[in-house]
Amino acid sequence: MRHPIRWLKRCMTGAVPDFRVSPDVWQYAHVEAALFAACLKPALKLEDLTPVEGRSWRQKIASIQDVVSSLKDQRALPSPESRLLGRAGGTFKHPITLYVAHRPEVLAELLRVEDEQKTGGPRRAEAIRTAGRLLGYPPCCTAAFADLPRQDDPVVVASYGRSAPSNGMVRSLVSESPLLNFFPPLAAPVTWYPCSFSCTASLDAARAGHARLAPEAAQDLTAFLSGVVLAFDRFRFLHLHDARVESGRILYDGVSDALSTPSAPLALSRSSRLRAFRRMVSTVVAGGRELVVAGDRIVVSSSDGSQSSGVLLEPLTVVWFPSPRDDGGHS
Ligand SMILES: [Zn+2]
Repeated sequence: MRHPIRWLKRCMTGAVPDFRVSPDVWQYAHVEAALFAACLKPALKLEDLTPVEGRSWRQKIASIQDVVSSLKDQRALPSPESRLLGRAGGTFKHPITLYVAHRPEVLAELLRVEDEQKTGGPRRAEAIRTAGRLLGYPPCCTAAFADLPRQDDPVVVASYGRSAPSNGMVRSLVSESPLLNFFPPLAAPVTWYPCSFSCTASLDAARAGHARLAPEAAQDLTAFLSGVVLAFDRFRFLHLHDARVESGRILYDGVSDALSTPSAPLALSRSSRLRAFRRMVSTVVAGGRELVVAGDRIVVSSSDGSQSSGVLLEPLTVVWFPSPRDDGGHS
């Protein structure tokens, strides 16, 4: 399986490093379900589920007051190219999408615009905007998403770097707040693609969700979301914790990736693409304590001085999410 770094030199030795696990702070261990139950979203969409997961979720959400749901089973369709599951073809193991709303007319409209999006017709962009509104996403972000030439995950992630200065394959950005770190699945209160890392509508919505947590859980989550993210696409990312950026070097004390999600859906935890990413990329970085990315190169150094270096084969977006106690120092 192709991976985004070709290692030229690997000197990292020793035990397989531990990965930081995200705090399990949300009701149902799922941020979107928790925000929907708290009436912060008119509707909820859970996709890439197995039939067993679909049934289990339907039971769980039945405990929320006044809900209607619809379960779409695409088992009869050929397996599509999937952001998680890789190539098209083969058995479609995650064919279930569950739609849930507090009101029947909201559910009906969501189902209608979901079908409209699949037609690829002239009203597709409008259908995307309507679906975004029903799912509780800010209009500026949904509009920016709908305007992209393609809505594929790598295209969306690369679009963040468009206006940032690039250094070869690498683009670096600084986020307004760690609450805009949408990368860690099921943990981040932003569950859509924010239109930018300074989007005030996204930050307001994230704060409204975050404010529902008990103070200690809220603090844990903010600390977890802080740090530096190196992203090749939506799910192939590395999250460096307790990260300081000093003269182009990123010093860090821990690493997580998409597989660090507790109670992850099977589409994530069983993804061969993400497992390969962990084996080939995350493990090397987790074994280090300092990282430099420049041009098309990445160099990871451990505390004992051993190094791994490689060439980037895919564009990399680096986003710094300063923790509230940080007061600059990015360079
Ligand atoms: Zn926005």
